[in-house]
Parts: sequence; structure tokens; C-alpha cells
Amino acid sequence: MAEGPDTGGPSRAERKAFEKAKILQRESERNIFRLVGRVLKKPEAERTEEEAAVLARHRDTVDELCRRQVRRNVLKRKQEEVFDDAEELRCKVRQLASAIKQANHLVVYTGAGISTAASIPDYRGPNGVWTQLQKGRTVSSSDLSKAEPTLTHMCIKMLHKEKMVKHVVSQNCDGLHLRSGLPRDALSELHGNMFIEVCTSCSPVMEYVRLFDVTERTSLHRHGTGRRCSHCGSELRDTIVHFGERGTLEQPLNWRGAAEAAKMADVILCLGSSLKVLKKYACLWCMNRPVGKRPKLYIVNLQWTPKDDLAVLKINGNCDDVMSLLMKELNFQVPVYDRVEDPIFSLATPLRPGEDESHTREVIAPLDGQRNCPVNPGGPAEEPTAVQGGWFGRGYGKGRKKKKKTVA
Ligand SMILES: [Zn+2]
Repeated sequence: MAEGPDTGGPSRAERKAFEKAKILQRESERNIFRLVGRVLKKPEAERTEEEAAVLARHRDTVDELCRRQVRRNVLKRKQEEVFDDAEELRCKVRQLASAIKQANHLVVYTGAGISTAASIPDYRGPNGVWTQLQKGRTVSSSDLSKAEPTLTHMCIKMLHKEKMVKHVVSQNCDGLHLRSGLPRDALSELHGNMFIEVCTSCSPVMEYVRLFDVTERTSLHRHGTGRRCSHCGSELRDTIVHFGERGTLEQPLNWRGAAEAAKMADVILCLGSSLKVLKKYACLWCMNRPVGKRPKLYIVNLQWTPKDDLAVLKINGNCDDVMSLLMKELNFQVPVYDRVEDPIFSLATPLRPGEDESHTREVIAPLDGQRNCPVNPGGPAEEPTAVQGGWFGRGYGKGRKKKKKTVA
């Protein structure tokens, strides 16, 4: 954009001087911020007269720095895990039990916090996947394949059997609700299920439940699992919905079931979810109704959630602790997970000959002793690596480079 000498615009020298002045101005502002910040850190009584004068001279900077500090404190508080003491917990669970008994249509929303006892990391807790990846750490995959439904999963399944819970909406991909024995029509896995791959070329969509994590080669916008549909030969895809993607599969997402449940709900119980993602799904919260006509909200979570202010009751406790207290209040025995009864074994489609080597993940076996898998017989043993599966985190940690494994 050369300017001719006759345009009357600023000359090159003038422009340079202007730019330089701007830089100096910014530099001086930075210095003031630094100076004021240093003075503010000192206790008031220890400030010299000169320092007090600095603060008086730069009132705006002082205000801005104080506002920033407040914002930082709020953010920090929201990330802290808070635990109610034993007595408070008991008292709150009693209230929850009575709400559950009186509810006509109780719907449960669950997040990663209900699976932490199964060694599946949550997302935003102190040891959560996002927190770890943000710190540049990796997450071990060895635990994930050994995960089994937790006490909370089993209690939810039982409450459904007792007709106290009508529907479960989960943002977890770990498949543990299904494996607890909760019927599929009572479940919406909004972000998919790591054990399910589907053929979308077939109509209706063909579903293949597997006994291993099908997502090891998938990631954001890349859902092909490498295996093929036995009906039409098209490549199968996982069912995972990544951050930024729109889930369109009817199953296992079951959005229709989730929306209908929310419409009917008079009580919503949120367990172990930060609700940061769930709150964006407007149809789950009946926000178009007047406040008094919305479902009553009960939240169990250790950290702050954006729905806390709208909740009738916020319980700051571990989901498993709360659920076992709840079972006592309701006079139910805590049900125990038994792998022999895990429905995944009857749902699963066996791999076809030649497909055994299409994955390297541990296979769930019906009985101890038979567990573990035959993958890569004779091939190089897989070292305990960081998770590279598509069901979380993939593509998030920029620095993490993995060697690509080729599949025979
Ligand atoms: Zn097909």
C-alpha cells in the first residue's frame, strides 16, 4: 500500500515515529502495572509514602489489578474439590432419598465422576484427563480396559429396576452403564460408547458390540475403525462424539430418549458431572419453562458446577459414598457387579476370522483367568503406552507424538 507523495497521508518517517510512540506507551503501561502490582503485594502497613503515592496516582491500574485477582480467586475456587463433612453428607442424602421416593419421573445425568472409582480418569478433576494433558503429562491406558461398573453404576441400575429411575443420560463413553445391566432403552450415551462400532452404509444402521475398545485408531473427524461390515463390506466407524462434533447416530446416543425423559422429568439427579458440556444441551434442562415448572435439580459433585445456583440441593461428595448412604436410606442392598452377568457378552459380535489382529486392546473375558487377549501373538509386545484411543483427549495434547502402528 504505497502512498504517493501527493496523497497528503503521513510520510514514512511520521508513521515510524507514530509506531514508536505506541510501543513506548505500551512499555510504560506495562511498567506501571508491574510497579503497582509489586506495591499491592506488600501489606498496607509496610508500604512507604512513596509507594502509597504510586497507588493514589494510578487508581485505574489498581482497580484493574484487583478485578483480575478476584477473577483468579473465583476460578481457583471453582476448581477446588469440596467435601461435605460426614454429618452434613448424611443429612443431605436423607433429603435426596425423600426426593427420590416422592419423584414421579426421576432422570439421572452422569459424568466422568461416577467412573473414577473404576480407574477411569475424569476430565476436569485434579487427576483428570484434561488437567493432566494440560500439564503436559500422559495418561496410562493400562487401567482403562480393566474398568468395571462401579457401585454407583450398579445402584443406578437397581434404582431403574425398582422403577425409581426412569432414564439415564450419560456423557461417558466407557460403556459401564450398559455393562451394569441397565437396559438400552433406558440409556442415552450422548457421546458414544467405546465398545460399539457401526455400519452407517447399512439401513438400518448395523451395530457391532465388541469386547474391546474399538477407538484406538479413531480421532476427531476420523471415525473409521479399520474393520468392515459383514453385510455390505463398508468400513465400520466408532460412535464417539468428540468436542466440536455433532452426534447424529440414533444409537447409542439415543437423543430422542434423553429429550423425552427430560420433558417428563420432575426430578433430575446429576452425578459426577461438571455439567459444563451438558448445560449446553438446552433440551435437557427445560429452560423454556417458568422457573417453578422446571424439574427439581439435585447435584452430586466435588467441584463447582454452573447449575449449582439452580439446584435444590448440592451434595459435595464422592458418588460412591453418596450412593451407598442413599441405599441405606432407601433400605436397599448395594448390588454387586458380577462379570458373569455382564450383558456385553451376549451383546457382542465376535470378530471374523482374520480380524483378531485388527486391534491391540485388551479383551474383556467372561471369567478371571480367561482374561487377556491374544492380540498380536508373536508380534512385538505393546509397551504400556499413553492412551491414544479416540474416546478422549486425542488431538488435544499437541506435543504428544506417537508412532503410528500399521495393521496387518
Ligand atoms: Zn454395512
